[in-house]
Amino acid sequence: MADIALRNVRKTFGDFVAVKDSSFTIHDGEFFVMLGPSGCGKTTTLRMIAGLELPTSGQILLDGEDVTFNRASQRDIAFVFQLFALYPHMNVRKNLAFPLVSQGTPRAEIRRRVEETAKLLRIDHLLNSSVSGLSSGDRQRVALGRAIVRRPKAFLMDEPLGALDAEFRELMCEELRLLHNRIDATTVYVTHDQIEAMAMADRIAVMNQAEVLQIGPPAEVYARPATRFVANFIGSPAMNFLPAEGRLAAGATAIRVAGKEISIPRLHENLDSAEAVLGVRPEHISIREEGALRGAVFAVEYMGTRQLITVDTEAGRLRVRAPNTLRVTDGQNVALSFDADRLVVFHGETEAAVPSDLYAEARHG
Ligand code: ATP
Repeated sequence: MADIALRNVRKTFGDFVAVKDSSFTIHDGEFFVMLGPSGCGKTTTLRMIAGLELPTSGQILLDGEDVTFNRASQRDIAFVFQLFALYPHMNVRKNLAFPLVSQGTPRAEIRRRVEETAKLLRIDHLLNSSVSGLSSGDRQRVALGRAIVRRPKAFLMDEPLGALDAEFRELMCEELRLLHNRIDATTVYVTHDQIEAMAMADRIAVMNQAEVLQIGPPAEVYARPATRFVANFIGSPAMNFLPAEGRLAAGATAIRVAGKEISIPRLHENLDSAEAVLGVRPEHISIREEGALRGAVFAVEYMGTRQLITVDTEAGRLRVRAPNTLRVTDGQNVALSFDADRLVVFHGETEAAVPSDLYAEARHG
């Protein structure tokens, strides 16, 4: 297996910049997810790694070897397109064998590898069945098998579950992750679905407008977003944002919102403009007798073990994740208190998170 390094990789189409200078390394055996909205450059990045697109500048290294100008077929990387792409007139065995037959692999070796792959995917009992009669789950497994059987250095997957309904998607997410744990292959997976990314990734690269904004494990990106875009894109419901008042300097441990003081993790930098935005996850607000802000309940949504409460405050509308034992009704006046050590302050103009004790925690493990 392999690690994949991008060094200042850039891609333009005419005047249009599809990928700004990207530099990062995908580690050997890692499940790496590129996450971002439509058009942010995920597929273009993946196609450059695959060798299907040439970077305008920069380098791509596979296991330390510069493969920037190597064709896709010289890279030993499997690109898994929509998982349903199978040959309908061939049985499962022939579908699995196809990539090896085209490579001219000896027959005995093909047989051994096809059987090994089928066992791994638990479709060995289906080897002689026609693919047209298979359930959609088994079809996906055969399609995956076609990629695995070649034993490539890495797998690249572009929204492979995009066409599936929600329930089946969840199941396939689990299967893909389990399969990854078994074969430990470097995998680069592209999606615009943050739930999929959070569930599967060892690390996520969050992209927007041709740029990688942050790379980190799901919990890290969630708790310590590098920018307001990342904070908003990850998490459902999204983080709440409250406009702050007054100038903030390094060392500050409180922020003013709608005329009230809210405690925050100690800031490590001055904000060079007066503008700041406070970011609060819905589970870091609680409804109490006393609190920093007051507001009126706008809506209550029950979600099984939790409920989502929308509160209109002087600082704007906030969403609060609360235990389902809490009793509140629409229109009720409530006080909100905030988990001081989980709050994030964003620069009002650059939208970057301001370094604070919360972020220092991450650096020290
Ligand atoms: P999606 O999920 O919609 O595929 P994406 O993040 O994968 O989005 P890309 O497909 O990488 O985005 O596209 C990034 C931008 O580059 C888009 O604005 C797209 O229109 C543009 N683009 C991609 N390929 C070409 C091309 N061959 N010629 C011109 N523009 C292109």
